[in-house]
Amino acid sequence: MKVGIVGAGVAGCIMARSLARVPGLDVTCLERVAPDDQSEAGTGLNIGPNAVKALTAHDPELAAAITEAAFAWKTWRISLTGGRELFHLPLADVAAHEGWRIRWAELYRVMREAAGDVVRYGCAITGARRTAPGKVGVTYLQGGATHRLEDLDLLIAADGRYSQVRAEMSGAPELKQVGIAIFRLLVPDTSAGLIDDYAQLFNGPNRLLTFRVPPGYVYMAGTFPIDPDRPIPDAAKTVEALRAAYLPASGEPSPAAAWLVRQITTHFDQVHWARMQEHGVLYADPAAPVLYLGDSAHGMVPTLGQGATMAVEDATFAADVIAGAWAAGARDVRACLDTISAIRTPRVRFAMDFSLEASDTMMAGADPVAGTIKKLEPAFLDRLRTLYAAVPVPPAMGAIRAEAAR
Ligand SMILES: Cc1cc2nc3c(=O)[nH]c(=O)nc-3n(C[C@H](O)[C@H](O)[C@H](O)COP(=O)(O)OP(=O)(O)OC[C@H]3O[C@@H](n4cnc5c(N)ncnc54)[C@H](O)[C@@H]3O)c2cc1C
Repeated sequence: MKVGIVGAGVAGCIMARSLARVPGLDVTCLERVAPDDQSEAGTGLNIGPNAVKALTAHDPELAAAITEAAFAWKTWRISLTGGRELFHLPLADVAAHEGWRIRWAELYRVMREAAGDVVRYGCAITGARRTAPGKVGVTYLQGGATHRLEDLDLLIAADGRYSQVRAEMSGAPELKQVGIAIFRLLVPDTSAGLIDDYAQLFNGPNRLLTFRVPPGYVYMAGTFPIDPDRPIPDAAKTVEALRAAYLPASGEPSPAAAWLVRQITTHFDQVHWARMQEHGVLYADPAAPVLYLGDSAHGMVPTLGQGATMAVEDATFAADVIAGAWAAGARDVRACLDTISAIRTPRVRFAMDFSLEASDTMMAGADPVAGTIKKLEPAFLDRLRTLYAAVPVPPAMGAIRAEAAR
């Protein structure tokens, strides 16, 4: 069976590494950037315990390599920028695994090394289409020339947000703005221990999120409410506006908040801006053998750190289903796609809805004190347990065959 994968990011690298090991699969992964591309160097990721659980079960060697390159995410603290602590949750209370804190570029380095020479770099997909019943093909640009990958029995779109494959094969999903501006910044750690594990600091609904990542950086992301129907106002994208957004109106800031605001001032020219948005879920094209994974399958707000986390869950699950089917002699691609879609869709919808609900304290007019204290109640903690620990595992082959027979 001929398999094409578009994108060597989080989901694509896991699929490339896993499927290349399955006898009988001919796998090619096309990635548009060069292998040492550093375009995401300015971002840190906190990756949830559910991804660590999924990857450790699927590929302990790759999970260990990431653990080596990351700091452990063990606690979640929420306070006001004036210093009052509202929430302190050891992740061990709600998960059996720790999470990871890592630079995005470092995660890609580890994953791309693990994917090996299945990945062809500098290959940008320019088109994807159905070529015959049960077959798809892609065109791509490499070194200024157009090439084709034809007769694919399965095309896996792991090309991230704004997936070109999804737009061409199944139609671009509609984006929904949620009314929150977000900026991110990575700075050298000169905090002398003020910043370490995952923390959020609120001033009204305006929130700073921060944590330390190897080898000696602090990552921060700031948010504030905006009109969902408009771009971020220029007046909000200034040093003065951000100082006013995060420094308490009365009283002194905590030492951590004061340090973070100083970093924004000093490194303002490196700030990246975006708006929080989400888009609908689609794992499989109904008419062609195309599988969507990670951000190409779903777009969610980043509040619970579940974008890359769900990409890991998606890819480990999909790789197990496909490898399991092939090992058992089953050759029905559609049954695999239907099985993946049937089990991953409710799981990711839950993560998307939960992440959006957990953004309540960042919305216009929110009361972060009452909203945060509510997150200590059993209802929220039980949902966190479901998110972090109830990772779906692939069904037995019999169920996949039954899906094929339906
Ligand atoms: C600022 C920010 C902060 C985030 N923080 C977190 C966090 O803390 N925790 C978390 O879990 N998630 C976080 N996320 C989300 C997370 O980064 C994504 O959800 C995750 O990277 C998705 O993985 P993926 O495999 O779907 O796509 P990606 O990792 O984006 O990979 C897509 C790959 O496809 C390639 N590609 C794209 N188009 C083409 C093409 N035409 N041809 C060939 N190749 C192509 C790209 O170059 C890339 O390598 C954050 C995102 C942002 C923007």
